Amino acid sequence: MDPLNISLYDNVGHVRLVDHMGTDECVADAARVSYQTGTRPLRANETLVRYLMRHEHWTPFEMTSVKLRVKCPLFVARQVMRHRLFSYNEVSLRYSEACEDIWAPTRARFNLQSDTNRQGSGEACVDPAHAERFVTEWARVLVQARTLYDDMLHAGVAREVARGILPVAQFTEFYMCGNLRTWLHFCRLRCDSHAQSEISELANGVLTILRALYPVTVNAWIDYERDSVRFSRPDGARLHARLHGNGVPNGGENSSARELDEFEQKLARLTGAQV
Ligand SMILES: Cc1cc2nc3c(=O)[nH]c(=O)nc-3n(C[C@H](O)[C@H](O)[C@H](O)COP(=O)(O)OP(=O)(O)OC[C@H]3O[C@@H](n4cnc5c(N)ncnc54)[C@H](O)[C@@H]3O)c2cc1C
Repeated sequence: MDPLNISLYDNVGHVRLVDHMGTDECVADAARVSYQTGTRPLRANETLVRYLMRHEHWTPFEMTSVKLRVKCPLFVARQVMRHRLFSYNEVSLRYSEACEDIWAPTRARFNLQSDTNRQGSGEACVDPAHAERFVTEWARVLVQARTLYDDMLHAGVAREVARGILPVAQFTEFYMCGNLRTWLHFCRLRCDSHAQSEISELANGVLTILRALYPVTVNAWIDYERDSVRFSRPDGARLHARLHGNGVPNGGENSSARELDEFEQKLARLTGAQV
């Protein structure tokens, strides 16, 4: 696998490196400018990058730039473009015809609505007979929409009007450019288990590219950001009660059942236990 060119969505989509600026060393060098030689000991690059990440000194990570080319369904692109600190350039369906590629879920992707997460999918799938019918019907409706789109273009209808019939499963392509800080923030939110699996697939591809370009930074980010757990003040009281028997067991009267559940999940993440 080329770590700078990742295939996605059963090889229909991708995320690819177009261009980048800087290395882990550039991040460390940018930080060193703030304490001139002689005023403090120079740290080795890796130690310094890890220190910066641990203490949330983010600006040195902004002294970099990564430009990627993404091909993904429109419904994924819509989530991606909520990230406002990137620059984007996307294919225009006013200038050009839509490509033939359209995302279609497999039978296994027809998950039931989650019981616990109002936005997400649960583990279980619909009845296999239903899934079979949905796969067939999905394909039929997509062909119908595409046929009407093509008919309209042949009849001379403006592309900007005809595109209205295309589904959000239609693939699009765009350039997306940002610095390492913005990319890591994107990965933090979108590699997370709460994100939709189709944008997580893309974000994990992004992370593979970042790791190839900035291995020290990405390892530090995994240790101190992605796999870290943040405890609140009420969490501290709960922890104290567990460990010493003299804290506030539920963290205080303002704690909701959901917050208590989240606390258990944090402990489980720390210990690697299943919740
Ligand atoms: C699991 C999940 C579910 C979501 N569900 C919904 C939903 O139901 N509805 C919905 O509308 N959105 C939803 N979103 C999108 C979410 O609300 C954010 O718009 C998106 O994740 C971008 O996050 P961001 O603003 O931190 O990132 P960016 O836009 O990339 O910004 C990066 C950071 O820059 C700073 N920043 C940027 N702009 C401003 C500003 N104007 N003011 C102050 N600080 C700024 C903030 O620190 C921000 O964290 C969801 C996102 C996730 C991950």
